Amino acid sequence: MDQTRTLGKTDLQVKRIGFGANAVGGHNLFPNLNDETGRDLVRTALDGGVNFIDTAFIYGLGRSEELIGEIVSERGGRDKMVIASKGAHKEVNGDIELDNSREFLRGEVEKSLKRLKTDYIDLYYVHFPDDKTPMAEVAGTLKELKDEGKIKAIGASNLDFKQLQEFNADGYLEVFQSEYSLIHRDAEKDLLPYCEEQGISFIPYFPLASGLLTGKFTKDSTFDDIRKDNPQFQGETFIKNLEKVDKLKALAKDKQAKTAHLALAWLLTRPAIDAIIPGAKRPDQLKNNLRTLDIQLTDDEAEYISGIFK
Ligand code: NAP
Repeated sequence: MDQTRTLGKTDLQVKRIGFGANAVGGHNLFPNLNDETGRDLVRTALDGGVNFIDTAFIYGLGRSEELIGEIVSERGGRDKMVIASKGAHKEVNGDIELDNSREFLRGEVEKSLKRLKTDYIDLYYVHFPDDKTPMAEVAGTLKELKDEGKIKAIGASNLDFKQLQEFNADGYLEVFQSEYSLIHRDAEKDLLPYCEEQGISFIPYFPLASGLLTGKFTKDSTFDDIRKDNPQFQGETFIKNLEKVDKLKALAKDKQAKTAHLALAWLLTRPAIDAIIPGAKRPDQLKNNLRTLDIQLTDDEAEYISGIFK
């Protein structure tokens, strides 16, 4: 499998398996994280040849960016890394609001640059729409930042189809990030086809459906983080998901691979998906996910896998 791709129409060359760093410093998202494991995760990613790291302000309210900045600057080689970050979340009296205004996003990029200890961000996404600022205006703000060299590529995340088209009215959008995995297929309706048609790179988030596609859960598993409110982990839906994952597990066994590898390798067979950014809580999980690059899926296998979850 070719391990490097150019992200859409950008100049950014990424290894096809990146690292989603919401569990690096993301204390507000997951219980019982510690900074040292976060640092270890970043070191493990770099040691494993990962050159594409995905972070955001909201992952630890800047802590994820700080830890990544610390390790990348300690290691050197910033120019070989593709660092993606996101903004839109604003703290107001302890609450979080969304803001896509030019003034706010420009300020956020400056703060991200400091936390990441860098003078440019390779890819900057507006993290969520604020449902107030027109999307074409948000794209214009990111274009301005790109022209100034503060960001190298323009991204958007969590837009619906109409917002996606509005954001891309002037053709500025280069990378789109949205939820997509074997379990969560909504993007196939219009988001993915639009990205494919427009040459926009599509980065799927929750590629392992928050761990469900690793095959490690049973009907008795319990959750104490964001998964406890996720319908995919509840009741009948959860049981049905486990049954489907069992079928994937059987194929993985035949191929002497892990269930997670097949779920990730399948994503890499989809159009518009240049790279993926699986997350990890522990270095061994990250290392394991990198082994996906050893897996080759035939067209028939990819179709079979797709069919299990349709
Ligand atoms: P994910 O990649 O679907 O699942 C990652 C989780 O699965 C890990 O934290 C770990 O959790 C478990 N896991 C991973 N590899 C494993 C392995 N080999 N064996 C067993 N368990 C394993 O979900 P995600 O990390 O939340 O999403 C990926 C990235 O997408 C994020 O890190 C973030 O960068 C990005 N993201 C973006 C948005 C957005 O709004 N744009 C939203 C969500 C995420 P446990 O050990 O706790 O089970």
